Amino acid sequence: MEKDRAEHHAQGMAGMHVADFDDGRTHRHGSDAMLSEEFEPSCLTIRLGAIVENFRSMQRLAAPAAAAAVVKADAYGLGMPLVATALQARAHCDTFFVARHREGVQLRPLVPHARIYVLDGAPPEAVPALISYRLTPVLNSITEVAGWGAAGRAMRTELDAALHIDTGMNRLGVPTDELAVLAAEAGKRFQHIRIVLLMSHLACSDDPSSPMNPLQLDRFRTALAMLPTAPASLASSGGVMLGKDYAFDLVRPGLGLYGGNPQPAKPNPFLVAARLTGRVLQVRRVDKGESVGYGATFRAGQSTAIATVSLGYADGLMRANGNRGEAVIEGVRAPIAGRVSMDLLTLDVSGMASVRAGMEVEFVGDTITLEELAETSGTASYEILTSLSHRAKRVYVEDAR
Ligand SMILES: *Cc1c(COP(=O)(O)O)cnc(C)c1O
Repeated sequence: MEKDRAEHHAQGMAGMHVADFDDGRTHRHGSDAMLSEEFEPSCLTIRLGAIVENFRSMQRLAAPAAAAAVVKADAYGLGMPLVATALQARAHCDTFFVARHREGVQLRPLVPHARIYVLDGAPPEAVPALISYRLTPVLNSITEVAGWGAAGRAMRTELDAALHIDTGMNRLGVPTDELAVLAAEAGKRFQHIRIVLLMSHLACSDDPSSPMNPLQLDRFRTALAMLPTAPASLASSGGVMLGKDYAFDLVRPGLGLYGGNPQPAKPNPFLVAARLTGRVLQVRRVDKGESVGYGATFRAGQSTAIATVSLGYADGLMRANGNRGEAVIEGVRAPIAGRVSMDLLTLDVSGMASVRAGMEVEFVGDTITLEELAETSGTASYEILTSLSHRAKRVYVEDAR
């Protein structure tokens, strides 16, 4: 079975806390493995095949530009080790972006020959690790350029680096005044540094009609014209969907790889990569006038059927979903009734006579999108993904659908 292969693979990488898979016993008794999975109270199913397919879609949308994979924050909560190795093995992804140096250190042995960019840059404390793990810092200021150059000089070599130019995010990257200095004194400032990528980051690429997009594009082009020639990168997932003008030489998608919709006003071109499910533990009748759950926030206006489900905020669902949002049982939607508690939540399943203990309940996946759940919980699809907890059992499958 495809799924078994993924699980064996994960076990082969023991010690990297990729997931809490069952021990080897489940593989000696195949049907036990099926049963334990069947009755897992809370489960996060991750479709590696979908992530690989989404990366290929990014490649197609961006071509002839190349595509890198952003795998920061544990691949947006879905597990960096298995995601990165799948992308490398099955889609020939050879360029990755992480945020923290530690993430780069963790990724290096998994993709020994890949380029790994570290967005946090090169503060002095990080320089030794950057060098020994062959990580490429994204330099964010003149000071970092000087520090990285000094490290190169001490090693009597040129060290690779990317340069982040701020074009309007005002968060990270070389500001306009520093850019002028770097451009005027490029020969001196970039001694012992080989700039392998000039990049910037869009503030509003989720909204194709935002005037920020053409403004930042224009500023980026101006900056590129000032600096020595090097490959360029501007687009994250939203930028990829803005069209080829924004693709330059390399695109850097994250969200779309994991099934999120980078421009929620349009249909999502990417495949669902994560499903969060619970199980019905109990179905009960609640009389008119009775309340349900902590704080008694749901009151039955009539005799109501309540299904109690084994999923709570400790599994990654948001507490903000109390009395907001829906879940899906056998294809039918049921509203969340009452507060979401740590381990449990309650659904109003009145009129759904077939609901029984043991049935699977989907909170995000094929019917309820990340964007829908983000909307009902008042957050963003990014935060839904990175909040998925490790209590839900993680099951990696090779499927794309
Ligand atoms: C996180 C990040 C990305 C990826 O963004 P998505 O919207 O998830 O595609 C790309 N570039 C930078 C600088 C980032 O911080």
